[in-house]
Amino acid sequence: MSTEAHQGAPRSEKRKATTDVTELAPGVLRSELPINLPGLGHVNCYMLQDGDGVALVDPGLPGEDSWNALVDRLKRAHYRVSDVHTVIVTHSHFDHYGGAERLREEAGARIVGHSSLAHWRSKPELHDVSEFMAPDDIEQRIPPNDGPLGHWTPWGTWSQPPAEIIEHWQKLGVEDFETPAIDHALDDGNTITLARREWVTVHTPGHTADHVCLYDADAGLMITGDHVLPTITPHISGFAAPNGPLGHFFDSLQRMHEFTDVTLALPAHGDPFDDLYGRADSICAHHDGRLDEIRSLNNNGEPASVEEYMKHLFRERSWGDMAASETYAHLVHLRDAGELTTTWSDGLMHFH
Ligand SMILES: [Zn+2]
Repeated sequence: MSTEAHQGAPRSEKRKATTDVTELAPGVLRSELPINLPGLGHVNCYMLQDGDGVALVDPGLPGEDSWNALVDRLKRAHYRVSDVHTVIVTHSHFDHYGGAERLREEAGARIVGHSSLAHWRSKPELHDVSEFMAPDDIEQRIPPNDGPLGHWTPWGTWSQPPAEIIEHWQKLGVEDFETPAIDHALDDGNTITLARREWVTVHTPGHTADHVCLYDADAGLMITGDHVLPTITPHISGFAAPNGPLGHFFDSLQRMHEFTDVTLALPAHGDPFDDLYGRADSICAHHDGRLDEIRSLNNNGEPASVEEYMKHLFRERSWGDMAASETYAHLVHLRDAGELTTTWSDGLMHFH
């Protein structure tokens, strides 16, 4: 899920999946699987070839449509499902891990991801909601529907995945948002051999806490997942653990400067691109701009709710929980930096 950094050029992330399988470097193929989420028309499923078969990076959504597309793309690359020996999940979003468990079942593939890879639902301790609710409200508020699919927000709404996403899952008959179990856990600096290349794990928390990129120093490749995308900025929710995701995201973007020899970045959505740290810098600049806007809004010193800030930062057509949570991430960042303070009034968090 992403919000747009607006420019007006056609966005490659938005384009519908093609059936093409293209070789980007020896043994490194790009295929595209269909998704239909805000701003996104496909997810790239990279195929890393070796003598034992193939490893897949981010095998798309759960469900039959995506699976059929995946089987088709494998066939175009002259593979069968049983040739898939490894699945790498860049982070715990369902458009990236959806096909993983089925590949384990049908091909015996091992699943590889960051050691902390977990969905908030399977690790409720990652989601201590008390921080997000007025102190005298915690006991009284009752979720509007049963099931643990949401949480209260500091701007007073019950937040759950967007309706179109829930609907999409229901259509697929998927009730379980569970992330896959990891067979092989990666931590920052660990290497893994895929496509006869040594890939170094680069832990890049921000978009999610468990996000990893994979770096091939010999060929100057970086698989960037959703961390750095060619034209849009990944959604930063303000709720992702560890606390202060925007700060972690800034640090993770800054780290791209350690990899100035990267000549090709392989994003999870959109076309591969060559200017990895330049792109990381412009995403930083986008968020810095938001922070400056908040700073200038704060001049009158009056406490304002998250929603009020959101209405200044976003155009009306974008207003809603996603814009509010992104606003919240920026407000919390300034609070953690000591530039803003928080008060509660009418059950809503206010910043000034
Ligand atoms: Zn994502």
